[in-house]
Amino acid sequence: MSQIYDRVALIGLGLIASSMFWAIKRAGLAGEVTGYARSLETRDTARKIGLCDRVCDTAAEAAKGADLVVLCVPVGVMSDVMVEIAPVLKPGATVSDVGSVKRHVIEAVQPHIPHGVHFVPAHPLAGTEHSGPESGFAELFDNRWTILVPIEGTPSEPVARLRALWEGMGANVEEMEADHHDLVLAVTSHAPHLIAYTMVGVADDLRRVTDSEVIKYSAAGFRDFTRIAASDPTMWRDVFLTNKDATLEILGRFTEELFALQRAIRTGDGDHLFDYFTRTRAIRRGIIEAGQDTDAPNFGRGKGAQ
Ligand code: NAP
Repeated sequence: MSQIYDRVALIGLGLIASSMFWAIKRAGLAGEVTGYARSLETRDTARKIGLCDRVCDTAAEAAKGADLVVLCVPVGVMSDVMVEIAPVLKPGATVSDVGSVKRHVIEAVQPHIPHGVHFVPAHPLAGTEHSGPESGFAELFDNRWTILVPIEGTPSEPVARLRALWEGMGANVEEMEADHHDLVLAVTSHAPHLIAYTMVGVADDLRRVTDSEVIKYSAAGFRDFTRIAASDPTMWRDVFLTNKDATLEILGRFTEELFALQRAIRTGDGDHLFDYFTRTRAIRRGIIEAGQDTDAPNFGRGKGAQ
């Protein structure tokens, strides 16, 4: 794979940025990658593990002269970072982001984009429950989707280049409109995370009653919820605060379905439960067939795991 950008700057050095760095290096997609994170501790860790060719002490220093600047910080602080780097951006540069919400990010960032700089929002649909500079790995985006959300009027060249970068990092790329993106993600990611947080919270309350049995006998279903509910609190707080409408819409529908299932259990309507579970099982099959998860028993966990 050949070089796509001379210089890429990653602002924020957590899971997504560190995975981008290793994936860019794996395929030789950039001449130099600079990086910046807010805390000295993260910058020192980055220097120690060789994350980025050059770790800078300010976001502006990292962004100066870059052909592509990617905002890899929580959604709630993207506009602050953009204000800081705007004066040093090189004419013709592209700014992108990896935020999990798109309408809010566009409204927060676009007004600060200088004339002659292109803003191409993006969102890689890949992640783990880990965060920080040491959590990244080059394979994170392999065969996962990255959604580009080009803003009307953006020339095709910066969009095509960013697409080539994501493809070079192993991702499949699709373009989508911002509101549609936010609704799709509310269904597939945001509402499920909130449900996992709730279920683990309920179990935590119960734990006080059952004296640690919830942990001791935790079965696969609950453990999968705990994995999701271990995700970064700052990132997820920002996701819910900035994708409010779509998340509330989906939670409303979820509550209606939950009441219907509750009623079926109370009235002993086994046919309703059976039909419902048959329909949902087919969705799992579709995800496996699309190569988006493993069909190994117990999600590929080692032998002996519950
Ligand atoms: P992360 O591992 O928690 O890292 C966040 C990074 O942002 C840290 O390096 C942090 O610096 C830095 N940061 C926080 N506030 C900052 C500020 N005000 N100025 C400069 N840097 C700041 O987060 P992540 O999981 O990579 O997520 C980053 C973005 O990717 C978020 O917008 C999220 O919505 C999106 N995303 C996440 C996932 C996922 O599953 N994790 C998936 C797709 C997209 P310090 O370390 O110094 O605090």
